[in-house]
Amino acid sequence: PGGAETQAQNNTSMQKVKYAIAVASGKGGVGKSTVSVNLACALQRLLEEEGKSGIGIMDCDIYGPSVPLMLGAAGRPEIANDMIVPIENFGVRIMSMGFLIDEDTPVVWRGPMIMKTIQQFAQNVDWGELEILVIDLPPGTGDAQLSLVQTIPLEGAVIVTTPQPAAFNVARRGARMFDKVDVPIQGVVENMSYLETPDGERQAIFGEGGGAEIAEGLDTELLGQIPLDPSIREGSDRGIPIVISDPESPAAKEFTAIARQI
Ligand code: ADP
Repeated sequence: PGGAETQAQNNTSMQKVKYAIAVASGKGGVGKSTVSVNLACALQRLLEEEGKSGIGIMDCDIYGPSVPLMLGAAGRPEIANDMIVPIENFGVRIMSMGFLIDEDTPVVWRGPMIMKTIQQFAQNVDWGELEILVIDLPPGTGDAQLSLVQTIPLEGAVIVTTPQPAAFNVARRGARMFDKVDVPIQGVVENMSYLETPDGERQAIFGEGGGAEIAEGLDTELLGQIPLDPSIREGSDRGIPIVISDPESPAAKEFTAIARQI
């Protein structure tokens, strides 16, 4: 009976979402949220060009819900008809545990409690009509992530990694997780791929080839390589993603090229 009920709730929340895609990583700090946020904004811009709208982002990262900050969104979401209403900025509908939990709550205490509520949370958001929902998963590939991807009907997943070959195992574990729930991996995004010096030389600060290697190992595409660029971090810190603030920058163009493949 529990299953049926879950399914029903699921339908209410995700009914008008045409396409849900998860952004995952084997570990934290690789830029998963940065990629999620910039992809959501790039997708929104692409839709806008077609005279359409309807992009959402769901931040499921409980240990560091950074999406609201990165998108300059704050406040408490409203509740209407027992559903949480997303907060919108840059034309993107945003929902995050960050809107709901107190920053001062200790992470050790939050963990187990929120892992349970996060599933409910995922089912109780009134997204309205959405073309694409980008879901920023918590970093890692453990049980919590697995139960989340089982809760949300996903069309595909994107794996974010850094270029060092050592990251291979972690990303592969992520891939197995999606395999278990029959969600196709749409590709790999390699982040912090290189630093471009003023004379145009590309320095491989974090090594090379990791993204391509993982994509090959998973039998999927390398969707793109995002440079290491201080303005990406600055944009996130001031709540205006680089795709919005500087759409002609190489990083923004790469995010847009990746969005086109989704
Ligand atoms: P994750 O979600 O994987 O934990 P974040 O997206 O929070 O990682 O990124 C971690 C930090 O690295 C943030 O301060 C972010 O601004 C920065 N960052 C991410 N990608 C880049 C990049 N390509 N260039 C510069 N800084 C980046």
